Formats: sequence, structure tokens, C-alpha cells
Amino acid sequence: RTEILATTSYVASTVVPDGGESVVINLDHGDPTMYENFWKQKGEKTTVVTSGWQHISYFSDVKNVCWFLEPELVTAVTRLHKVVGNAVTEGRHMVVGTGSSQLYQAAIFALSPHNASTPMNVVSAAPFYSSYPLMTDYLKSGLHKWAGDAHKFNKEEPYIELITSPNNPDGSSRQDVVRGHKGILIHDLAYYWPQYTPILSPPPDYDIMLFTVSKSTGHAGSRIGWALVKDREVAKKMTTFIEINTIGVSKDSQIRAAKILQAVSDSCDNDDDDDESFFDYSYKLMEKRWKKIREAVDKTRLFSLPDFSPETCSFSGRTFGQLPAFAWLKCEGDVDDCESFLRKNKIYTRGGKHFGASMKYVRISMLCRDSEFEVFTERLPTIVS
Ligand code: PMP
Repeated sequence: RTEILATTSYVASTVVPDGGESVVINLDHGDPTMYENFWKQKGEKTTVVTSGWQHISYFSDVKNVCWFLEPELVTAVTRLHKVVGNAVTEGRHMVVGTGSSQLYQAAIFALSPHNASTPMNVVSAAPFYSSYPLMTDYLKSGLHKWAGDAHKFNKEEPYIELITSPNNPDGSSRQDVVRGHKGILIHDLAYYWPQYTPILSPPPDYDIMLFTVSKSTGHAGSRIGWALVKDREVAKKMTTFIEINTIGVSKDSQIRAAKILQAVSDSCDNDDDDDESFFDYSYKLMEKRWKKIREAVDKTRLFSLPDFSPETCSFSGRTFGQLPAFAWLKCEGDVDDCESFLRKNKIYTRGGKHFGASMKYVRISMLCRDSEFEVFTERLPTIVS
């Protein structure tokens, strides 16, 4: 099962059907539609107009290691990381990808030795993002193989460790766990933005950092991610992967993403602007939703949620605990398969086994539209075992 569920089970409508039967709420996938209203308010400021003669060439900047990377996107990404303080960009090579999903695949291709007799081990601490094992082994490559939970990895062999911080599915802040001398690290920082977690100083400067507009601004449909890479040779190999895979990344999408990211930075810079900044808006929305889901969970004895200790965010100055993009809900008591249990109550979620964890847990998307979230938080306390 991929991140986006098969359309057969995708039911987004929250209109109550005739006969009073309750609707299905699908919170399995992490489709970030919750920021739609913010972007509606922005109107013309984020509109991109493209003429038929524009963006025709395969090439963007032949002097750059990543020759299909649009300079406008470099400027927008660099500026936003400076504004937020969530990554070091100086001296890094930027590689653009069709979502950070493509960059993940490019990174494991680049980091796996091409002349080894056995495939490179790829690990991540459970619960890990459910797409990692799928993406690692999908093509049954001889270069790399999924080797499971990093906590259990004890081979004296080279490995790649993925560190997702904040983590998908459970929202925790993470560091590498294997700490072997044959390891190479990839940091997936898709959720390291101030609406989800306090940004801490100094900014991360890991060897390979992955970001995406999908979870930062909510533009998953543009399919744009970027990698910040220390080593030129690794950046080159990642570029080669994307060259062979898709001969670059849509320029139209890159330019749209650049416009959106510039608008986010502008919204943070303009103190005297009446408009609310994107991160104020999104933080308040996440805070409201987490308050609501915690209230709903507190009304029952069937479920529990993780707690997070507050820290001060160097970007906003606010002190808060994580407000993750997903709720890692645990069924307390006798229920062993939380996914099936909630499914009977017409709430679709993703069960723990997809993340290398117990089926007592499910992952629930917190990024849906308001209407779906309302129905979900109203239904949760009415569930009885
Ligand atoms: N990494 C993590 C941890 C994610 O949760 C996601 C999206 N669910 C991705 C990467 C992939 O994002 P993209 O849409 O940029 O491919």
C-alpha cells in the first residue's frame, strides 16, 4: 500500500447520505488539503502565468551540478531556510526532485556502492514512514535492500539509516540510533517546519537533508522536493538518477513552487502587512486540531495519544510541544487491531504494521479539510468497544 490509497477506498465526501447513515472518513493518507483556505486568500499573489513558448528546454542551469534545477527555486528555498532557520544552505548542493520521494530513491541509489557483492542495508527506527520499505525494494534492485527497524540492526555491514524528524507516523524528534562506523545517514526533514515542531538553534547541517513542499506549504500536487547535499559527488549521482529516471523535474512545477515559497517568506517578513503569515496560520490550525483530538480522546477510555514536552521555537518564540501532521493513536484495552476496529466505525486509518509497529496503533492524518476533521472528532468519542 502506497502513501496515497487506491482510489477505490478513497472517500473524501463528508455529506451525510440519506437515511442518516454515517459517512466514511478517510484519514489513511496524508493529503495536506488543510492549507487550501490560506492559499485561497492569497489569490493573485501566488498566481503563475506561463506562455506557450516558456519552459520549453530540458535545461535550467547547465553550470549547476543539478542542471535541471531552476535558479528561482534555489533563491526561494535558500531564502525560506534562512527565514525559518531550519537548515544550513551555505556550501550545499541543491538537487530538485519530483517530490522528496524521488529524492529518497535518488539518495539510496547514490549512496549504495555499485560494485558490491551484496545490496546495501537500508534501515530506519520503527515506527518508520510506511513508504520507505516499499520504495527501497519496489524494483528489487541489486544495489540496496530494506533491512527493517534500525533498533534491531546489528550486522557488521555497511548501511544507510533514514532519520525522519519529526517522525512520520508518531511525530517524535529523532536522531540516528545505529551509531555504527559503517553507516551513512539521510535526514528526512519533511516535517521540520514551525507549524509542526519547535525549530531549534542551530539549524541542522546534516550531510543529506530532504524537504518537500507537500508538507511545508501543502502543495503536494506540485510534486516538488529538494535535497541539500554536502558532498558534490553524491549530489552528482543523485542528479544522474533523476536524469535516467525522468530527465529532470517539471520546470512549471519548480516555478510554481518558487512562487509559493517566496509568498511564504514574504508573509513572514512583512510585519506591517495585515495578512497573517503562513506559519502563524498553519501553527494555529494545527494547535486547534490537536486540542480537539486530545479532547475527543479524553472523552473515551479506549484510546491514547503520545505526549510531547514543550520547547521554545527559535523561529516564532512560542513554547510548545510537537503538533504532528499525524496522530499516532493507540487502542487501549482489549482491541488488538485498531485499524479494523476504527474501520468498522467508518474511520479509515493506517495500521501500525505498515510502520513496523504493533497493530494496537494507527496513524491518523491531521492534514485533511476542516469538514472531515470535524466529523472525525465528533465520531471518535461515540465509539464503544
Ligand atoms: N518523507 C516523509 C516522511 C513523508 O511523510 C512524505 C509524504 N508523506 C514524503 C517523504 C514524500 O513527500 P513527497 O510528496 O514530497 O514525495
